[in-house]
Amino acid sequence: PQGSTVADLAKLLNVPANDIIKRLFLLGNPLTLTESMSDDLIELVADDLGRDVKVMTKEEENSFSFYDDPKDLKPRPPVVTVMGHVDHGKTSLLDAIRHTGVAEGEAGGITQAIGASQVQINGRTITFIDTPGHETFTAMRARGAKVTDIVILIVAADDGVMPQTIESINHAKAANVPIIVAVNKIDKPGADPTRVRQELTEHGIIPEEWGGQNMFVDISAKKHMGIEDLLEAVLLEADVLELKANPDTFASGHVLEAKLDRGRGSVATLLVSRGTLHVGDAIVAGMAFGKIRAMMDPRGRNVKEARPSDPVEVLGLQSVPMAGDEFRVFQDERDARALADERALKARIEEQNKVKHVTLENLFDTM
Ligand code: GDP
Ligand code: MG
Repeated sequence: PQGSTVADLAKLLNVPANDIIKRLFLLGNPLTLTESMSDDLIELVADDLGRDVKVMTKEEENSFSFYDDPKDLKPRPPVVTVMGHVDHGKTSLLDAIRHTGVAEGEAGGITQAIGASQVQINGRTITFIDTPGHETFTAMRARGAKVTDIVILIVAADDGVMPQTIESINHAKAANVPIIVAVNKIDKPGADPTRVRQELTEHGIIPEEWGGQNMFVDISAKKHMGIEDLLEAVLLEADVLELKANPDTFASGHVLEAKLDRGRGSVATLLVSRGTLHVGDAIVAGMAFGKIRAMMDPRGRNVKEARPSDPVEVLGLQSVPMAGDEFRVFQDERDARALADERALKARIEEQNKVKHVTLENLFDTM
């Protein structure tokens, strides 16, 4: 790694430290055992000793340590996104789901604190990402972030397949995410759930009962009908996917949304995909660095930790990351800061390069 000392290199190459100190001296760079060496010097000395060493950047080191031993993997809850045409009932469905499995008295008091929610059904948890479907999904995918395990495609039974229904299907297919269809508004007089099934068949979404791959559940989000059946379908699909993650390691995952709050500073909603996140952890999210000062679960309660598939709102980042950014906890705060700095520098260089590429030909296009 960058910043390695003479002692580190000696250990890595399994040679006496004195050999390295001698060579450094001969190269005109007298250094002691505990002094750190520049990248060039490390590679030069290694080469001198007949060894091929390449110093990793912080980014390379970062991408290096995501391996999990299969025996450390434990089941994790499914992460679900609801997609569909405008007014087909996404918001109503998420609302109905939030009130499922909650005692009557408590139901009225549920406030949604963050852009994600969790429900318990049959003693199991399901995580829902509530953020406005298409934009977030597209932004995340464009940035290589796969956060959703299952898509619920909601189609109003009185309206049928519409342009954004088809868009949603395309998103889910491109991301290789299984689709469960919720045929909504079956309480309405003009509802025709069979027609929805027929129309979707033309787009490759074929009901299981017709020999296809997709589960269909008829629901009324407004009248709270079929909601439990839908959630059970999600759990069945999750079982097939065998979703697992290692909870006993430093946390990593993605930013679902982030903003600057007047009183609280940078506020980010994170979805943990691996490891356990704790208050006090040093994290990097995209170009933002910080130490987690406080965490809140989807019900607005302060929590001390978040496990795989848990969404949490965190305070403590020094700047505002972007939706879709990867986040990661570091054991050493200095490593976290170094990675954030490296990314910020890279972004600045890219920005400058963009400016440089303005030529007489394209000058007027960019103005
Ligand atoms: P979104 O745009 O997909 O988020 O759709 P909304 O949840 O905002 O719903 C659009 C409209 O459809 C609202 O007026 C809802 O009250 C209504 N709606 C949603 N679900 C149902 C349902 O199951 N039955 C009926 N009759 N109306 C519904
Ligand atoms: Mg809505």
